[in-house]
Amino acid sequence: GVSKLLDLEKLCVLGHGNYGTVYKVRHRQTSAIYALKVIRADPDASQQPYQQSHEMKILISTDSPYIIKCLGAYESLAGEKAIVMEYMDAGTLDTLLKANGPFPESSIAHIGYQVLSGLNYLHAFNIFHLDIKPSNLLVDKNMNVKIGDFGVSKIMPESDPPDYWDIYVGTYAYMSPERLDSNMYDPRFVSAADIWSLGVTLLELYVGHFPFLPPGEKPNWMQLVLITRYGEAPSMPKEASEELRGFISCCLHKEPNKRWTALQLLSHPFICGKGRLED
Ligand code: ATP
Ligand code: MG
Repeated sequence: GVSKLLDLEKLCVLGHGNYGTVYKVRHRQTSAIYALKVIRADPDASQQPYQQSHEMKILISTDSPYIIKCLGAYESLAGEKAIVMEYMDAGTLDTLLKANGPFPESSIAHIGYQVLSGLNYLHAFNIFHLDIKPSNLLVDKNMNVKIGDFGVSKIMPESDPPDYWDIYVGTYAYMSPERLDSNMYDPRFVSAADIWSLGVTLLELYVGHFPFLPPGEKPNWMQLVLITRYGEAPSMPKEASEELRGFISCCLHKEPNKRWTALQLLSHPFICGKGRLED
């Protein structure tokens, strides 16, 4: 096992996030390679939406082939925190998209199957990721895809769901209409927020850019509220199959209660027909 942070040798930086840095590290005794996420000590923790305890709790308690595994968690006296995770050697879906361009439908289905399996697992435990996007989906050389970065995730209290829940943190380009407009918030449909984000993510991987706008354009907040609440469904390339079109529209229903659940989507013809072929 990974018993001490001291046993880990930093090899390089894998990525910088909003709250810290992720390193590639080697365990000195076994030569095993891991990813180490170090979160800066925050002098004013109340100002920070990042919930370290949630991320650690979720990563330690989950056990699914579709979710990043955590091998240890540490906190220094100075308040710096660190999480040792399994290392994914092909980076994220965001880096793959930038390096190789858009994915074919068969890959979209295969990725969709894996992320839906991870979300189905999480939602069954009342855990909501709330930041599904290409840069938080990690990949290895065999195209195994795992959900990572639980920095803004939520665990719904089992007894009574809160009337108001601060789910307005995350990456706004991938946010569902009900998250962009707090008047639409309904605690019964928080899982549907992850499904919207997955729909946007998969469509972005298929068309190669933020799917609601032409290539190169990034939405501002107001544009996004208008697009997601009142805009038309994003247009699909002519060659897109009926199954893919149907699947995406099941993910991108404007009303959260009409969006399909992860479990329902796992048996959608697009996923059943194509996603499992390569599994
Ligand atoms: P952001 O705010 O950008 O979402 P973050 O601080 O929440 O970042 P992560 O998303 O967990 O941190 O990780 C940042 C980057 O580090 C990722 O985009 C990825 O490139 C890399 N990374 C994270 N975890 C791993 C891992 N297990 N294996 C390989 N690379 C990783
Ligand atoms: Mg991230």
